[in-house]
Amino acid sequence: MTSPAQPKRRILARMLLLVLLAGVAFIAMRLGYVPQRFSPFPPIALDAQPTWFVDSRLAALRLDRPLCDAILKDPHIDAAAIVDQPYKNGCGWQNAVKFTRAGGAQIGAEKLTCEMAAALALWIEHEVQPLAQATFGARVASIGDMGIYDCRNIVGNPLMKNIRSQHATANAIDISGFTLQGGRQINILRDWPGNGTEAAFLREAHRRACKYFRVALGPDYNAAHKNHFHFDRGAFSRCK
Ligand SMILES: [Zn+2]
Repeated sequence: MTSPAQPKRRILARMLLLVLLAGVAFIAMRLGYVPQRFSPFPPIALDAQPTWFVDSRLAALRLDRPLCDAILKDPHIDAAAIVDQPYKNGCGWQNAVKFTRAGGAQIGAEKLTCEMAAALALWIEHEVQPLAQATFGARVASIGDMGIYDCRNIVGNPLMKNIRSQHATANAIDISGFTLQGGRQINILRDWPGNGTEAAFLREAHRRACKYFRVALGPDYNAAHKNHFHFDRGAFSRCK
Protein backbone atom coordinates (compact mmCIF):
# COMPACT_ATOMS: atom_id res chain seq x y z
CA MET A 1 0.00 0.00 0.00
CA THR A 2 1.38 3.46 -0.91
CA SER A 3 1.18 6.28 1.56
CA PRO A 4 -0.32 9.68 0.42
CA ALA A 5 3.13 11.25 0.94
CA GLN A 6 4.67 9.20 -1.90
CA PRO A 7 3.05 10.98 -4.93
CA LYS A 8 3.96 14.32 -3.38
CA ARG A 9 7.55 13.17 -2.99
CA ARG A 10 7.58 11.93 -6.58
CA ILE A 11 6.30 15.29 -7.90
CA LEU A 12 8.90 17.14 -5.83
CA ALA A 13 11.67 14.88 -7.16
CA ARG A 14 10.55 15.53 -10.75
CA MET A 15 10.43 19.27 -10.17
CA LEU A 16 13.92 19.21 -8.69
CA LEU A 17 15.17 17.23 -11.70
CA LEU A 18 13.60 19.79 -14.05
CA VAL A 19 15.23 22.68 -12.19
CA LEU A 20 18.56 20.84 -12.30
CA LEU A 21 18.27 20.17 -16.04
CA ALA A 22 17.31 23.80 -16.70
CA GLY A 23 20.37 24.90 -14.69
CA VAL A 24 22.68 22.59 -16.65
CA ALA A 25 21.17 23.79 -19.95
CA PHE A 26 21.63 27.44 -18.91
CA ILE A 27 25.28 26.91 -17.96
CA ALA A 28 25.98 24.89 -21.14
CA MET A 29 24.51 27.71 -23.27
CA ARG A 30 26.41 30.36 -21.36
CA LEU A 31 29.68 28.52 -21.96
CA GLY A 32 28.94 28.07 -25.65
CA TYR A 33 28.58 24.28 -25.47
CA VAL A 34 25.14 24.23 -27.09
CA PRO A 35 25.62 24.27 -30.89
CA GLN A 36 23.39 26.64 -32.81
CA ARG A 37 21.42 23.74 -34.33
CA PHE A 38 20.28 22.71 -30.83
CA SER A 39 19.69 26.27 -29.62
CA PRO A 40 16.10 27.43 -29.12
CA PHE A 41 17.19 30.93 -30.23
CA PRO A 42 17.89 32.22 -33.76
CA PRO A 43 21.55 32.89 -34.65
CA ILE A 44 22.78 36.36 -33.79
CA ALA A 45 22.90 38.74 -36.78
CA LEU A 46 24.94 41.93 -37.12
CA ASP A 47 22.62 43.89 -39.39
CA ALA A 48 20.11 44.90 -36.74
CA GLN A 49 20.10 45.69 -33.04
CA PRO A 50 19.38 42.38 -31.28
CA THR A 51 16.79 42.52 -28.54
CA TRP A 52 16.28 39.10 -26.99
CA PHE A 53 18.66 36.54 -25.51
CA VAL A 54 21.65 38.50 -26.78
CA ASP A 55 24.09 36.84 -24.38
CA SER A 56 23.10 33.25 -25.26
CA ARG A 57 23.06 33.99 -28.98
CA LEU A 58 26.55 35.51 -28.79
CA ALA A 59 27.79 32.56 -26.70
CA ALA A 60 26.65 30.15 -29.45
CA LEU A 61 29.48 31.58 -31.59
CA ARG A 62 32.20 30.53 -29.16
CA LEU A 63 33.07 27.12 -30.59
CA ASP A 64 31.35 27.37 -33.96
CA ARG A 65 33.71 28.54 -36.69
CA PRO A 66 31.31 27.98 -39.63
CA LEU A 67 28.69 30.10 -37.83
CA CYS A 68 31.31 32.80 -37.22
CA ASP A 69 32.31 32.76 -40.89
CA ALA A 70 28.66 33.16 -41.86
CA ILE A 71 27.93 35.99 -39.43
CA LEU A 72 31.09 38.13 -39.26
CA LYS A 73 30.66 39.78 -42.65
CA ASP A 74 31.20 43.08 -44.42
CA PRO A 75 30.03 45.78 -44.13
CA HIS A 76 29.65 45.11 -40.40
CA ILE A 77 33.18 43.80 -39.86
CA ASP A 78 36.07 42.82 -42.16
CA ALA A 79 36.97 39.76 -40.09
CA ALA A 80 39.27 36.96 -41.22
CA ALA A 81 39.71 33.77 -39.21
CA ILE A 82 43.14 33.12 -37.70
CA VAL A 83 44.75 29.81 -36.75
CA ASP A 84 44.02 28.57 -33.22
CA GLN A 85 46.76 28.71 -30.58
CA PRO A 86 46.13 25.75 -28.23
CA TYR A 87 45.84 26.86 -24.60
CA LYS A 88 49.07 26.50 -22.64
CA ASN A 89 49.52 27.74 -19.09
CA GLY A 90 46.18 29.54 -19.35
CA CYS A 91 47.12 31.43 -22.51
CA GLY A 92 46.18 30.97 -26.17
CA TRP A 93 43.09 31.40 -28.27
CA GLN A 94 40.41 29.47 -30.06
CA ASN A 95 38.12 30.54 -32.88
CA ALA A 96 39.58 34.04 -33.14
CA VAL A 97 39.60 36.56 -35.96
CA LYS A 98 41.57 39.61 -37.06
CA PHE A 99 40.00 42.77 -38.45
CA THR A 100 40.64 46.44 -39.17
CA ARG A 101 37.07 47.80 -39.22
CA ALA A 102 33.94 47.11 -37.20
CA GLY A 103 30.60 48.89 -37.12
CA GLY A 104 31.79 51.48 -39.62
CA ALA A 105 34.82 52.55 -37.56
CA GLN A 106 38.51 51.75 -37.85
CA ILE A 107 39.71 49.53 -35.04
CA GLY A 108 42.71 47.29 -35.46
CA ALA A 109 42.66 43.82 -33.94
CA GLU A 110 45.26 41.15 -34.62
CA LYS A 111 43.30 38.53 -32.69
CA LEU A 112 40.00 38.62 -30.85
CA THR A 113 37.60 35.74 -30.24
CA CYS A 114 34.76 35.53 -32.73
CA GLU A 115 32.22 35.96 -29.94
CA MET A 116 33.90 39.19 -28.79
CA ALA A 117 34.28 40.45 -32.36
CA ALA A 118 30.53 40.02 -32.94
CA ALA A 119 29.71 41.79 -29.65
CA LEU A 120 32.08 44.64 -30.55
CA ALA A 121 30.65 45.10 -34.05
CA LEU A 122 27.10 45.16 -32.64
CA TRP A 123 27.99 47.68 -29.94
CA ILE A 124 29.80 50.03 -32.33
CA GLU A 125 27.27 49.87 -35.15
CA HIS A 126 24.01 49.88 -33.22
CA GLU A 127 24.92 51.83 -30.08
CA VAL A 128 28.06 53.97 -30.46
CA GLN A 129 27.42 55.22 -34.00
CA PRO A 130 23.80 56.38 -33.44
CA LEU A 131 24.82 57.85 -30.09
CA ALA A 132 27.70 59.81 -31.67
CA GLN A 133 25.43 61.01 -34.46
CA ALA A 134 22.80 62.17 -31.97
CA THR A 135 25.30 63.74 -29.55
CA PHE A 136 27.87 65.33 -31.87
CA GLY A 137 26.23 65.23 -35.30
CA ALA A 138 29.08 63.04 -36.56
CA ARG A 139 29.88 59.37 -36.77
CA VAL A 140 32.85 57.69 -35.13
CA ALA A 141 35.71 57.30 -37.61
CA SER A 142 38.09 55.33 -35.43
CA ILE A 143 38.34 53.75 -32.01
CA GLY A 144 41.54 53.62 -30.01
CA ASP A 145 42.35 50.24 -28.57
CA MET A 146 44.97 49.69 -25.90
CA GLY A 147 45.38 46.01 -26.49
CA ILE A 148 43.64 42.70 -26.79
CA TYR A 149 45.83 39.62 -26.39
CA ASP A 150 48.24 39.55 -23.47
CA CYS A 151 49.32 36.39 -21.63
CA ARG A 152 48.92 37.83 -18.12
CA ASN A 153 46.89 37.77 -14.92
CA ILE A 154 44.22 40.27 -13.86
CA VAL A 155 45.70 43.59 -12.72
CA GLY A 156 44.30 46.21 -10.37
CA ASN A 157 42.50 43.81 -8.01
CA PRO A 158 44.64 42.12 -5.31
CA LEU A 159 42.01 39.38 -4.79
CA MET A 160 42.29 38.29 -8.42
CA LYS A 161 45.99 38.73 -9.02
CA ASN A 162 46.52 34.96 -9.47
CA ILE A 163 43.71 34.58 -12.01
CA ARG A 164 44.36 34.76 -15.73
CA SER A 165 42.87 37.81 -17.43
CA GLN A 166 40.45 37.31 -20.31
CA HIS A 167 43.15 39.11 -22.32
CA ALA A 168 45.20 35.89 -21.97
CA THR A 169 42.69 34.11 -24.21
CA ALA A 170 42.04 36.99 -26.65
CA ASN A 171 38.59 37.32 -25.14
CA ALA A 172 38.89 40.96 -24.03
CA ILE A 173 39.59 44.40 -25.48
CA ASP A 174 40.60 47.70 -23.89
CA ILE A 175 39.33 50.91 -25.49
CA SER A 176 40.91 54.31 -24.84
CA GLY A 177 38.65 56.65 -26.78
CA PHE A 178 36.97 57.67 -30.02
CA THR A 179 37.82 59.93 -32.96
CA LEU A 180 34.86 61.39 -34.82
CA GLN A 181 34.69 62.14 -38.53
CA GLY A 182 36.13 65.64 -38.75
CA GLY A 183 38.79 64.87 -36.16
CA ARG A 184 37.15 65.63 -32.78
CA GLN A 185 38.55 63.32 -30.12
CA ILE A 186 36.84 61.87 -27.08
CA ASN A 187 39.31 60.48 -24.61
CA ILE A 188 38.32 58.38 -21.61
CA LEU A 189 41.14 59.56 -19.33
CA ARG A 190 40.50 63.23 -20.08
CA ASP A 191 36.74 63.37 -20.63
CA TRP A 192 35.18 60.79 -18.29
CA PRO A 193 35.56 62.87 -15.09
CA GLY A 194 33.87 65.96 -16.57
CA ASN A 195 30.23 67.00 -16.82
CA GLY A 196 30.30 67.91 -20.48
CA THR A 197 28.86 66.38 -23.61
CA GLU A 198 31.89 64.10 -23.99
CA ALA A 199 31.43 62.66 -20.49
CA ALA A 200 27.73 62.04 -21.13
CA PHE A 201 28.58 60.29 -24.39
CA LEU A 202 31.19 58.08 -22.73
CA ARG A 203 28.90 57.13 -19.85
CA GLU A 204 26.07 56.20 -22.19
CA ALA A 205 28.38 54.27 -24.53
CA HIS A 206 29.68 52.33 -21.51
CA ARG A 207 26.18 51.68 -20.17
CA ARG A 208 25.04 50.30 -23.51
CA ALA A 209 28.09 48.02 -23.74
CA CYS A 210 26.74 45.96 -20.85
CA LYS A 211 24.14 44.46 -23.19
CA TYR A 212 26.82 42.85 -25.36
CA PHE A 213 29.78 42.23 -23.03
CA ARG A 214 29.52 40.28 -19.80
CA VAL A 215 32.16 42.44 -18.22
CA ALA A 216 32.23 46.15 -19.06
CA LEU A 217 34.51 48.12 -16.74
CA GLY A 218 35.37 51.80 -16.88
CA PRO A 219 36.94 54.51 -14.74
CA ASP A 220 34.27 54.11 -12.03
CA TYR A 221 35.41 50.51 -11.41
CA ASN A 222 38.94 51.16 -10.15
CA ALA A 223 42.06 53.25 -10.75
CA ALA A 224 43.49 50.66 -13.15
CA HIS A 225 40.65 51.51 -15.55
CA LYS A 226 40.80 55.31 -15.34
CA ASN A 227 41.99 55.57 -18.96
CA HIS A 228 40.03 52.82 -20.72
CA PHE A 229 36.97 50.63 -21.01
CA HIS A 230 37.66 46.92 -20.51
CA PHE A 231 35.18 44.61 -22.26
CA ASP A 232 35.18 40.82 -22.10
CA ARG A 233 32.94 37.80 -22.47
CA GLY A 234 34.35 35.52 -19.78
CA ALA A 235 32.29 33.48 -17.31
CA PHE A 236 31.46 36.35 -14.94
CA SER A 237 29.27 39.42 -15.32
CA ARG A 238 30.08 42.91 -14.09
CA CYS A 239 28.98 46.28 -15.40
CA LYS A 240 30.62 49.23 -13.71
ZN1 LIG B 1 41.35 44.90 -20.19
